[in-house]
Amino acid sequence: MDLTTSYVFDAAHRIAGHPGKCAWLHGHTYHLEVTVSSPTLNPLGMVMDFDDLRDAVRKAVLDLWDHSTLLAADDPLGPAISAVQREAPDRVVLLPGQPTAEVLTREAWTRLGPQLPAGIALERVAIRETPSCGSAMSRPQA
Ligand SMILES: [Zn+2]
Repeated sequence: MDLTTSYVFDAAHRIAGHPGKCAWLHGHTYHLEVTVSSPTLNPLGMVMDFDDLRDAVRKAVLDLWDHSTLLAADDPLGPAISAVQREAPDRVVLLPGQPTAEVLTREAWTRLGPQLPAGIALERVAIRETPSCGSAMSRPQA
């Protein structure tokens, strides 16, 4: 049985080196959807409590990314923004790749997995930058 929750967070990013407008620092209201599963339901008839899943997603992703600037680790904007935003050094998030929807999806997947309770499998993470553009990652089917 699956359980799905969805979230919204705001962040700035840019795709350094992109030939078009994505190279410029800009923001998105991202939509994140997380699906987990369990072969059995707990005594309350749940895969897991929605609140517990929301806590896990908040700790793994939202606390870090919401109202942050998401940049590639080697983007020179990282140190520049950190220098003028000294009061919030954690609001510049450096990623191991360009902050595309695909990389954010993979990062969310990697960060969220260890936050889930035993017996709960991460099935799908999807991130949309806009209503019509996004990325998703699913657990390989056995
Ligand atoms: Zn963008």
